Amino acid sequence: MKTIGYAAQSADSPLAPFSFDRRELRDNDVAMEILYCGVCHSDLHTARNDWGWTVYPNVPGHEIVGRVTAVGPAVTRHKVGDHVAVGCMVDSCQECDHCHNGEEQFCREGNTNTYNSPDRQTGDITMGGYSKHLVAREEFVLSIPETLDLARVAPLLCAGITTYSPLRTWNVGPGSRVAVAGMGGLGHMAVKMAVGLGAHVTVISRTADKKADALELGADAFLVSSDGSAMEKAASSFDVIIDTIPVKHDLNPYVPLLDIDGTLVLVGQVGPLAEPSTVPMILGRRRVAGSLIGGIAETQEMLDFCGRMNILPECEMIRMDEINDAFDRMEKSDVRYRFVIDMASLDEPTS
Ligand SMILES: [Zn+2]
Ligand SMILES: [Zn+2]
Repeated sequence: MKTIGYAAQSADSPLAPFSFDRRELRDNDVAMEILYCGVCHSDLHTARNDWGWTVYPNVPGHEIVGRVTAVGPAVTRHKVGDHVAVGCMVDSCQECDHCHNGEEQFCREGNTNTYNSPDRQTGDITMGGYSKHLVAREEFVLSIPETLDLARVAPLLCAGITTYSPLRTWNVGPGSRVAVAGMGGLGHMAVKMAVGLGAHVTVISRTADKKADALELGADAFLVSSDGSAMEKAASSFDVIIDTIPVKHDLNPYVPLLDIDGTLVLVGQVGPLAEPSTVPMILGRRRVAGSLIGGIAETQEMLDFCGRMNILPECEMIRMDEINDAFDRMEKSDVRYRFVIDMASLDEPTS
């Protein structure tokens, strides 16, 4: 099947229109027309080869919302016309202990990423959602609750599950004291998810600039990390801190904010951190942990939860041909809070 999208041809070339083929339907495949695709920091890092493993041409995009156009003969979960979603993974071995536990993100053989990953049968490099069509096996295609505004669903598929999963892993619910460090695409989603789960939520930010926004998103309190006495007063007052800060930073001011047995969860892939001290970890049995998206079952649970609670990201809609400008703005954190590409713009003449 012929389709069109936007691809990077090298680390330093901007994304540009690109024609390519989607595979013929396998028995358990779902084909969809893509309606919307969110813009994630990983897209930018992959297009520019920041992590050193990009295969070109690269079509990014792993926050995908579409409408089913065809299904293979063995498909039972979805039918033509359904609104569906695809996140960061499109396949896994389906046989290892982690896959059996519904944690395909930790597949022993490695999951197949939605883009820049070899297909398990053909070895062809997967192409993501900055395109008109997608074909994926049904186990990795999610159902979108009818109540949700389709145009704003896409960022749930990466930013949403990345923040929902650690909140569930560390049993956040009514009465939990949650802090969210950093309030960008991931952070604003963490606030909404934690509020939805019934937690008391505090946003931690370097300055007071985002205070009004944080409270509007539902946060109960705001803590300025550069205010030493406020930070001291907040010591031992959180059960969970979701750390979404997207750049190298010092954990030492944050770990003492946890109560005994509290957990700071890193969800941004930033590589080496400044040297963390063992003192607050040992004195308070505090943990520093990481978390990677979530499994398929948990992603569906998250979508259903958002459907019940009407939780949606704050989105700025863009045309496909505005993607390079959007990447530049995202690098400067100049977005409230997630770009979403309206894929109908691929059909229109470029502006
Ligand atoms: Zn992502
Ligand atoms: Zn597996």
